[in-house]
Amino acid sequence: MLRVEIEKCIGCGECESACTFGAIVVEDGKAVVDADTCTMCGTCVDACPEDALELDRESGAGPGIDLDEWRGVWVTAEYRFGSTAPVTFELLGKGRQLADDLGVALTAVLMGSGVSEHASELIHRGADRVLLVDHPELENFRDEIFARILARLAREEKPEVILAGATAMGRSYIPQVATMLETGLTADCTELAVRMEDRALLQTRPAFGGNLLATIVCPAHRPQMSTVRPHVLKALEADTSRQGEIVRVPLSDDDLKARVKVLESVMEESDGPGLADAEIVIAAGRGMESEKNMEMVHELASLLDAGVGASRAVTDAEWLPHRAQIGQTGVTISPKLYLGCGISGAIQHVVGIQGSDMIVAINKDPDAPIFDLATYGIVGDVKEILPLLIKRIRQERGA
Ligand SMILES: Cc1cc2nc3c(=O)[nH]c(=O)nc-3n(C[C@H](O)[C@H](O)[C@H](O)COP(=O)(O)OP(=O)(O)OC[C@H]3O[C@@H](n4cnc5c(N)ncnc54)[C@H](O)[C@@H]3O)c2cc1C
Repeated sequence: MLRVEIEKCIGCGECESACTFGAIVVEDGKAVVDADTCTMCGTCVDACPEDALELDRESGAGPGIDLDEWRGVWVTAEYRFGSTAPVTFELLGKGRQLADDLGVALTAVLMGSGVSEHASELIHRGADRVLLVDHPELENFRDEIFARILARLAREEKPEVILAGATAMGRSYIPQVATMLETGLTADCTELAVRMEDRALLQTRPAFGGNLLATIVCPAHRPQMSTVRPHVLKALEADTSRQGEIVRVPLSDDDLKARVKVLESVMEESDGPGLADAEIVIAAGRGMESEKNMEMVHELASLLDAGVGASRAVTDAEWLPHRAQIGQTGVTISPKLYLGCGISGAIQHVVGIQGSDMIVAINKDPDAPIFDLATYGIVGDVKEILPLLIKRIRQERGA
């Protein structure tokens, strides 16, 4: 709760100007706080020249929530087309650490159709308990239904933290859950930790185009919700001796009401490994100069069994589909080897490749920013370098 010490307040209005949420106004010469609108960000406290404002995080009285009622860490498991998405195991690895720090149980929420046999692997990867929601109506993902069920379970059980993958699925329904629960959501986190003094989840994510890392807290609302991009966190090794509880959750007709009917679900064919899972990624930039020159990229990728990615310049030019875009508004990758071909190294691209073990860049401009983070740099024309590389690999393989 934000308190105003009336005796100290001189009604200067600095707090009102500082609050971007319009949660504080000066009335009759004194600051007045709208507790429902206040996000407890503390900007007004810093702005007050008279030290008349104070944040009381312990009270939890901001939006009328008793923070102490909310306990436990939840991870939403992502199950699609017969298997559990690796990001689920990564979230469980971090969730285990957070739950241990907070001294609470780690629960995985698994929703889908015919998913029961996958519940125990979530326990092997760190969960103490699985809330299993297995129903034929959940065969196809529909954000409306998944959001309603997760929000209902959260209202009933009151977890203090809910983590989800920043995947197409997570991005689609997790914001709806946050809205239904009237709480905050920090998307695309790269690191999570807890501040034990008030059990706040410290949610770190790149901000301002990756130029700085912001640590965000949700002090007055529960649950604290975050999405995390795949490949950012480390999964625990599966331990098949771990024991846990599997709780079957019954569904009502109300849970399953939907305005959307899925008529057909079609799997997209792909030549090489998926970009996010590829051990080697060949990424094409505007420096490839034409769609025709992209053939070199595809040839090299097929020789190395690599995924093909791109900068936004290339996907905007439609030399590759949008799903190949790497970066802030595309895929985050962490391959063993990333080879950038004619990519300048704009920050919005770089944030998506920073997890690569080795970065090699080909660029004809020796001052291209990508060389600042490349493990190896080749200054030259991609049209000359790529054919040489392809030729050399073929020679080495005797073909
Ligand atoms: C909000 C926002 C989000 C964005 N999200 C993304 C994102 O997710 N991913 C992304 O990639 N971009 C993103 N961008 C765009 C980003 O800012 C850059 O514009 C983009 O990454 C540039 O792509 P590029 O490096 O291929 O092209 P350029 O910056 O034009 O660089 C081309 C490079 O190729 C070199 N070159 C030219 N010809 C040759 C040659 N023959 N041989 C060798 N080198 C050559 C040049 O020296 C140059 O360095 C975003 C931008 C904004 C504003």
